[in-house]
Amino acid sequence: MEKGQAAYEQDVLKRPFYHDLTPRKPWELLSKVAKQSWGYGYVDLEVKCGTCGEITVHHMTPSAADRTTGASCGYCGRIGKFGR
Ligand SMILES: [Zn+2]
Repeated sequence: MEKGQAAYEQDVLKRPFYHDLTPRKPWELLSKVAKQSWGYGYVDLEVKCGTCGEITVHHMTPSAADRTTGASCGYCGRIGKFGR
């Protein structure tokens, strides 16, 4: 098993679909960059939009997650705060 694969597959079990309801790819079909990001131990942060109320998931390194306080909404583009 490749580095990051177990973490990715766990995450797919929790969230089998992208927000547009297309199924997530099996590990073998991920890009090299995506596989590396999982190997680095990236984490998911959920941003709840204060404008439209939708939740966008951002995938980033733990250190970036510590520095970041907000990110743009994937639905309306407004900046939302991370809920942790
Ligand atoms: Zn929004």
